[in-house]
Amino acid sequence: MNYQHTLIAVDFSASCEQVINRGLHIAKLNSCPVSLIHVVEYLPPMDFGYEPIIVPDWYNNEQEIVSQAEKSLQKLATEHDIATERTRVLTGTPKNEILKFAETDDVDLIVIGSHGRHGFQRLLGSTAYPVIQNAHCDVLAIRISED
Ligand code: AMP
Repeated sequence: MNYQHTLIAVDFSASCEQVINRGLHIAKLNSCPVSLIHVVEYLPPMDFGYEPIIVPDWYNNEQEIVSQAEKSLQKLATEHDIATERTRVLTGTPKNEILKFAETDDVDLIVIGSHGRHGFQRLLGSTAYPVIQNAHCDVLAIRISED
């Protein structure tokens, strides 16, 4: 059975080219649509109900971070011939948002790097491992070559 919807998750690290290329290759073989997503890891300032917490300006500016991410994602999409409506920037924890998107958008193949910005001390990074463990669909973890 062919895959019906491939999700490629990118973190904008150098390795994301390899992840996109492999994901697009598989999608092409399966003649299925691709979604390209990035998750902005933004923690909103918290109000603990006592002392006001002083946070730097950049920390407050979620909208600006999201709009930068949208530009970067759009650039990647254009370079790889992916339509704008097939891209999405989400906010939250990468593993949770990737899993949620896969569920709600009927993704049957998630393509991620085996490691990304969080380094490769462990073979499977902090995102890849929980995604593989918790996804309800197939997950392809791309082994990132360093050269
Ligand atoms: P890591 O767990 O950071 O080593 O990342 C492993 C892979 O998870 C990356 O190669 C991406 O495919 C995906 N990933 C990590 N962080 C994000 C993010 N913020 N947005 C989308 N995908 C991500």
